[in-house]
Amino acid sequence: MIDKGTKLYSIVHEKCPRCQEGNLFATAPYNVLHFSEMNKACAHCGVRFGDEPSYFFGAMYVSYAFQVMIMVATYLVLRLTTNPEAWVYIVVSLTATVATIPFSFRLSRSVWINLFVSYQPEGSK
Ligand SMILES: [Zn+2]
Repeated sequence: MIDKGTKLYSIVHEKCPRCQEGNLFATAPYNVLHFSEMNKACAHCGVRFGDEPSYFFGAMYVSYAFQVMIMVATYLVLRLTTNPEAWVYIVVSLTATVATIPFSFRLSRSVWINLFVSYQPEGSK
């Protein structure tokens, strides 16, 4: 498993990067209408998430990288298994891309905030 205290733990579990206890997001990722709702601050340590305007603008670049990885993986799987006609590649990769938007969105924001906020265990201040 992933050890607490690592950035990977915070990213994968969508936890506060500072204390790794509070949740970054207010809802579950499969809540399709509200998957993007973030908590304003950590319920455990109080660190504010994305306090500045447009803080998560850079997460779009991370999300773009995830989406490209999904499209390349889709292409490779199709190419190496059935090698279908071109329109099948387009339909399947677009479907995979749209279906993974909630996870990509949340993961990219989690990666982005972890680039700038470091883990500080309780009592280490
Ligand atoms: Zn926290």
